[in-house]
Amino acid sequence: MTFQDLGLSDKLLNALSDAGYSDPTPIQEKAIPYVLMGRDVLGCAQTGTGKTASFTLPMIDILAEGRAKARMPRSLILAPTRELAAQVGESFEKYGKHHKLSKALLIGGSSFADQEQVLNRGVDVLIATPGRLIDLYERGKILLADVRILVIDEADRMLDMGFIPDVERIVSMLPTIRQTLFFSATMPKEIRRLADKFLMNPKEVSV
Ligand code: AMP
Repeated sequence: MTFQDLGLSDKLLNALSDAGYSDPTPIQEKAIPYVLMGRDVLGCAQTGTGKTASFTLPMIDILAEGRAKARMPRSLILAPTRELAAQVGESFEKYGKHHKLSKALLIGGSSFADQEQVLNRGVDVLIATPGRLIDLYERGKILLADVRILVIDEADRMLDMGFIPDVERIVSMLPTIRQTLFFSATMPKEIRRLADKFLMNPKEVSV
Protein backbone atom coordinates (compact mmCIF):
# COMPACT_ATOMS: atom_id res chain seq x y z
CA MET A 1 0.00 0.00 0.00
CA THR A 2 1.17 3.54 -0.78
CA PHE A 3 0.31 6.91 0.76
CA GLN A 4 -1.58 7.69 -2.45
CA ASP A 5 -3.84 4.65 -1.90
CA LEU A 6 -4.84 6.13 1.45
CA GLY A 7 -6.47 9.12 -0.21
CA LEU A 8 -4.07 11.86 0.87
CA SER A 9 -3.72 15.04 -1.20
CA ASP A 10 -0.93 15.69 -3.71
CA LYS A 11 0.43 18.42 -1.46
CA LEU A 12 0.86 15.92 1.33
CA LEU A 13 2.31 13.31 -1.00
CA ASN A 14 4.94 15.86 -2.00
CA ALA A 15 5.77 16.67 1.61
CA LEU A 16 6.03 12.94 2.37
CA SER A 17 8.39 12.31 -0.50
CA ASP A 18 10.48 15.33 0.61
CA ALA A 19 10.64 13.70 4.06
CA GLY A 20 11.87 10.52 2.38
CA TYR A 21 8.89 8.40 3.43
CA SER A 22 7.85 5.96 0.75
CA ASP A 23 5.33 3.70 2.46
CA PRO A 24 2.84 4.10 5.26
CA THR A 25 3.41 2.20 8.49
CA PRO A 26 0.70 -0.27 9.63
CA ILE A 27 -0.99 2.18 12.00
CA GLN A 28 -1.03 4.79 9.23
CA GLU A 29 -2.56 2.28 6.78
CA LYS A 30 -5.25 1.39 9.26
CA ALA A 31 -6.10 4.76 10.77
CA ILE A 32 -5.74 7.33 7.96
CA PRO A 33 -8.71 6.19 5.82
CA TYR A 34 -11.07 6.31 8.83
CA VAL A 35 -9.82 9.73 9.90
CA LEU A 36 -10.36 11.06 6.37
CA MET A 37 -13.91 9.62 6.48
CA GLY A 38 -14.58 11.65 9.59
CA ARG A 39 -14.86 8.64 11.89
CA ASP A 40 -13.82 8.57 15.52
CA VAL A 41 -10.79 6.35 16.01
CA LEU A 42 -9.52 4.43 19.01
CA GLY A 43 -5.89 3.64 18.24
CA CYS A 44 -3.76 1.27 20.23
CA ALA A 45 -0.19 2.01 19.22
CA GLN A 46 3.16 2.76 20.83
CA THR A 47 5.52 5.62 20.08
CA GLY A 48 7.80 4.64 17.22
CA THR A 49 5.04 3.09 15.10
CA GLY A 50 4.37 6.24 13.09
CA LYS A 51 1.32 7.01 15.23
CA THR A 52 1.81 10.79 15.11
CA ALA A 53 1.56 10.96 11.32
CA SER A 54 -1.49 8.68 11.42
CA PHE A 55 -3.42 11.65 12.80
CA THR A 56 -1.45 14.70 11.62
CA LEU A 57 -1.51 13.70 7.93
CA PRO A 58 -5.29 13.31 7.54
CA MET A 59 -5.91 16.29 9.83
CA ILE A 60 -3.87 18.54 7.56
CA ASP A 61 -6.06 17.57 4.59
CA ILE A 62 -9.28 17.95 6.57
CA LEU A 63 -8.27 21.36 7.93
CA ALA A 64 -7.12 22.58 4.53
CA GLU A 65 -10.68 22.20 3.28
CA GLY A 66 -13.11 24.94 4.16
CA ARG A 67 -11.00 27.17 6.30
CA ALA A 68 -13.10 29.63 8.22
CA LYS A 69 -12.34 33.34 7.78
CA ALA A 70 -12.05 34.17 11.44
CA ARG A 71 -9.41 31.79 12.61
CA MET A 72 -10.71 30.19 15.71
CA PRO A 73 -8.91 26.94 16.38
CA ARG A 74 -10.63 24.04 14.64
CA SER A 75 -8.56 21.32 16.15
CA LEU A 76 -7.00 20.49 19.48
CA ILE A 77 -4.34 17.93 20.21
CA LEU A 78 -3.63 17.06 23.83
CA ALA A 79 -0.33 15.41 24.69
CA PRO A 80 0.99 14.48 28.15
CA THR A 81 4.43 16.13 27.94
CA ARG A 82 6.09 19.17 26.43
CA GLU A 83 8.37 16.93 24.41
CA LEU A 84 5.52 14.98 22.89
CA ALA A 85 3.58 18.14 22.13
CA ALA A 86 6.68 19.58 20.45
CA GLN A 87 7.03 16.42 18.34
CA VAL A 88 3.43 16.73 17.22
CA GLY A 89 4.18 20.35 16.30
CA GLU A 90 7.19 19.26 14.24
CA SER A 91 5.07 16.68 12.49
CA PHE A 92 2.58 19.40 11.44
CA GLU A 93 5.51 21.54 10.27
CA LYS A 94 7.08 18.77 8.22
CA TYR A 95 3.96 17.41 6.52
CA GLY A 96 2.07 20.69 6.33
CA LYS A 97 4.83 22.67 4.64
CA HIS A 98 2.78 23.09 1.45
CA HIS A 99 -0.32 24.12 3.38
CA LYS A 100 -1.04 27.40 5.08
CA LEU A 101 -2.16 26.11 8.42
CA SER A 102 -1.16 27.93 11.55
CA LYS A 103 -0.63 26.33 14.91
CA ALA A 104 0.07 27.23 18.50
CA LEU A 105 2.15 25.10 20.82
CA LEU A 106 0.76 25.63 24.31
CA ILE A 107 3.14 24.05 26.76
CA GLY A 108 4.59 24.89 30.12
CA GLY A 109 8.04 26.42 30.34
CA SER A 110 7.56 29.02 27.64
CA SER A 111 6.12 32.45 28.19
CA PHE A 112 2.40 33.16 28.36
CA ALA A 113 2.97 36.41 26.46
CA ASP A 114 4.42 34.60 23.41
CA GLN A 115 1.64 32.03 23.38
CA GLU A 116 -1.03 34.69 23.76
CA GLN A 117 0.43 36.64 20.86
CA VAL A 118 0.23 33.60 18.59
CA LEU A 119 -3.35 32.93 19.73
CA ASN A 120 -4.36 36.51 19.01
CA ARG A 121 -3.24 36.14 15.41
CA GLY A 122 -5.61 33.20 15.00
CA VAL A 123 -4.65 29.57 14.61
CA ASP A 124 -6.05 26.42 13.03
CA VAL A 125 -4.40 23.90 15.32
CA LEU A 126 -3.81 23.95 19.07
CA ILE A 127 -1.24 21.52 20.39
CA ALA A 128 -1.21 21.56 24.16
CA THR A 129 -0.41 19.90 27.43
CA PRO A 130 -3.54 19.83 29.61
CA GLY A 131 -2.33 22.12 32.41
CA ARG A 132 -1.22 24.95 30.13
CA LEU A 133 -4.38 24.76 28.07
CA ILE A 134 -6.52 25.13 31.20
CA ASP A 135 -4.38 28.07 32.39
CA LEU A 136 -4.83 29.92 29.12
CA TYR A 137 -8.53 29.08 28.96
CA GLU A 138 -9.04 30.47 32.44
CA ARG A 139 -7.24 33.65 31.43
CA GLY A 140 -9.79 33.98 28.66
CA LYS A 141 -7.20 33.58 25.92
CA ILE A 142 -8.65 30.57 24.14
CA LEU A 143 -11.96 30.04 22.37
CA LEU A 144 -12.81 26.39 21.94
CA ALA A 145 -16.26 26.75 20.36
CA ASP A 146 -15.01 25.92 16.86
CA VAL A 147 -13.00 22.80 17.69
CA ARG A 148 -14.17 20.05 15.34
CA ILE A 149 -11.31 17.60 15.75
CA LEU A 150 -9.90 16.50 19.08
CA VAL A 151 -6.88 14.24 19.47
CA ILE A 152 -5.91 12.70 22.78
CA ASP A 153 -2.41 11.32 22.39
CA GLU A 154 -0.83 8.82 24.78
CA ALA A 155 -3.88 8.57 27.00
CA ASP A 156 -2.26 5.97 29.24
CA ARG A 157 0.58 8.34 30.01
CA MET A 158 -1.95 11.06 30.82
CA LEU A 159 -3.40 8.60 33.33
CA ASP A 160 0.01 7.80 34.85
CA MET A 161 0.74 11.50 35.20
CA GLY A 162 -2.58 12.27 36.90
CA PHE A 163 -3.94 14.39 34.03
CA ILE A 164 -7.24 12.61 33.52
CA PRO A 165 -9.32 15.11 35.55
CA ASP A 166 -7.81 17.95 33.48
CA VAL A 167 -8.50 16.08 30.25
CA GLU A 168 -12.11 15.41 31.27
CA ARG A 169 -12.55 19.07 32.08
CA ILE A 170 -11.12 20.17 28.74
CA VAL A 171 -13.31 17.75 26.80
CA SER A 172 -16.36 19.08 28.66
CA MET A 173 -15.51 22.57 27.29
CA LEU A 174 -15.55 21.38 23.65
CA PRO A 175 -18.45 21.14 21.24
CA THR A 176 -20.05 17.69 21.45
CA ILE A 177 -20.31 17.48 17.68
CA ARG A 178 -16.76 16.74 16.72
CA GLN A 179 -14.41 14.03 15.51
CA THR A 180 -12.31 12.46 18.25
CA LEU A 181 -9.10 10.46 17.80
CA PHE A 182 -7.88 8.70 20.90
CA PHE A 183 -4.49 7.00 21.11
CA SER A 184 -2.99 4.88 23.84
CA ALA A 185 -0.22 2.32 23.98
CA THR A 186 -2.16 0.23 26.45
CA MET A 187 -5.87 -0.03 27.24
CA PRO A 188 -6.37 -0.45 30.97
CA LYS A 189 -9.93 -0.23 32.34
CA GLU A 190 -9.74 3.47 33.18
CA ILE A 191 -8.61 4.27 29.63
CA ARG A 192 -11.43 2.15 28.14
CA ARG A 193 -13.90 4.07 30.28
CA LEU A 194 -12.57 7.37 29.00
CA ALA A 195 -12.59 6.16 25.40
CA ASP A 196 -16.23 5.06 25.80
CA LYS A 197 -17.07 8.49 27.18
CA PHE A 198 -15.24 10.60 24.57
CA LEU A 199 -15.70 8.60 21.36
CA MET A 200 -18.81 7.98 19.28
CA ASN A 201 -19.01 4.66 17.49
CA PRO A 202 -15.24 4.55 17.01
CA LYS A 203 -13.25 2.38 14.65
CA GLU A 204 -10.65 0.52 16.66
CA VAL A 205 -7.23 0.11 15.15
CA SER A 206 -4.24 -1.51 16.76
CA VAL A 207 -0.74 -2.48 15.76
P1 AMP B 1 5.96 8.21 16.00
O1 AMP B 1 5.54 6.79 16.28
O2 AMP B 1 4.81 9.02 15.52
O3 AMP B 1 6.68 8.82 17.17
O4 AMP B 1 7.00 8.17 14.77
C1 AMP B 1 8.24 7.50 14.84
C2 AMP B 1 9.20 7.97 13.77
O5 AMP B 1 8.88 7.39 12.51
C3 AMP B 1 9.25 9.46 13.56
O6 AMP B 1 10.59 9.87 13.52
C4 AMP B 1 8.61 9.66 12.21
O7 AMP B 1 9.14 10.78 11.54
C5 AMP B 1 8.94 8.37 11.49
N1 AMP B 1 7.91 7.99 10.49
C6 AMP B 1 6.57 8.19 10.57
N2 AMP B 1 5.95 7.68 9.50
C7 AMP B 1 6.89 7.11 8.72
C8 AMP B 1 6.84 6.40 7.47
N3 AMP B 1 5.69 6.17 6.86
N4 AMP B 1 8.00 5.96 6.97
C9 AMP B 1 9.16 6.17 7.63
N5 AMP B 1 9.27 6.83 8.79
C10 AMP B 1 8.15 7.29 9.35
